[in-house]
Amino acid sequence: MRVGVPKEIKNHEYRVGLTPPSVAELTAAGHEVIVETSAGAGIDFTDSDYVEAGARIVADAATVFAESDMIVKVKEPQPSEIALLEPRHTLFTYLHLAADKPQAEGLMRSGATCIAYETVTSNNGSLPLLKPMSEVAGRMSIQVGAHYLEKEQGGRGVLLGGVPGVAPARVAILGGGVAGINAAQMAVGQRADVTIYDISNERLAELDLHFGSQIKTAYASRAAIASAVARAHLVIGAVLVPGAAAPKLVTREMLRTMKRGSVLVDIAIDQGGCFETSRATTHDDPVFIEEDVIHYCVANMPGAVARTSAFALNNATLPFVMRLAKLGAEAAMRADRHLAAGLNVSGGKIRHAAVAEALALPM
Ligand code: NAD
Repeated sequence: MRVGVPKEIKNHEYRVGLTPPSVAELTAAGHEVIVETSAGAGIDFTDSDYVEAGARIVADAATVFAESDMIVKVKEPQPSEIALLEPRHTLFTYLHLAADKPQAEGLMRSGATCIAYETVTSNNGSLPLLKPMSEVAGRMSIQVGAHYLEKEQGGRGVLLGGVPGVAPARVAILGGGVAGINAAQMAVGQRADVTIYDISNERLAELDLHFGSQIKTAYASRAAIASAVARAHLVIGAVLVPGAAAPKLVTREMLRTMKRGSVLVDIAIDQGGCFETSRATTHDDPVFIEEDVIHYCVANMPGAVARTSAFALNNATLPFVMRLAKLGAEAAMRADRHLAAGLNVSGGKIRHAAVAEALALPM
């Protein structure tokens, strides 16, 4: 198959659909890979890295689309990219169509087969192509939290791990899923005093077994969260109710009980955020202060560590890309119901029930 990789054009997107090591896997299997010049430049992959991996470099996105059967990207296609899609194309990327009717209609008009990373499923019910980004955001949340706790950032002036003779910072993690467990791993590594709150007793038991005495766990009742917030130096919001807006677990009233210069990192901001006072921010201007508490609410945290994120995403997508390239979209989806769950649009129609319902469009 001919696999195309255009340069990402969404603002501040430095990741790339296929890294040179992924390209090398495809070309070794006999596929042709066409890469737009400087597609990986944002994270220091040169055109020669791609040529060494067996790719052919072309001058622009129009040529990538014209010469490829499948397009592998990171972000949803922008209008200029949708205009290049044809019925013969398979598009494999994040789409997030449920909140983007213009894009959905554009993809329907294109006639292309569009498979969304975020709805591909796995045997254990998780979403394997979203997982790496939650891992990145969870790990990063402790790094940014520690940074904003520093005095010159407006923080309380507390070192996460303390020192001998001085107690460590108290870290409360709301939601012990993929992002939460990765946050906990980093916080434990820095010797902070960590408690994870969740409403799933099964999850709390797993966390207890996993971390042993390194962390405490607590059921996420309103009362438990209120007392955690009042004591914590750093609160990480990492809850998810699949398909729904994040529950507002921390109210403004609770915030007023926090110590001045404490930090909130709302990872769940891409689902509306789990603190009442959260609003989405960007890497250009990541924080704001409410009630003397620093809020970090960047909706695209993995973008800050684009190189790590690109490798992590490729590790998860490559097995699917290989199967799509080998069998073609139709046969690959027939052979794998989890990949088929990724199908959002084909033949001019929406093919995913939740997306159709969210957009009030027929299947
Ligand atoms: P996950 O499903 O693995 O974990 C979510 C956890 O939240 C589960 O353990 C669940 O039991 C728990 N939960 C649900 N309701 C709760 C409540 N009321 N109180 C306490 N716990 C509750 O999800 P994940 O992959 O860890 O993702 C977490 C969030 O991070 C999602 O909103 C996801 O979209 C977001 N995310 C954001 C970024 C970013 O850049 N900001 C990046 C990746 C993921």
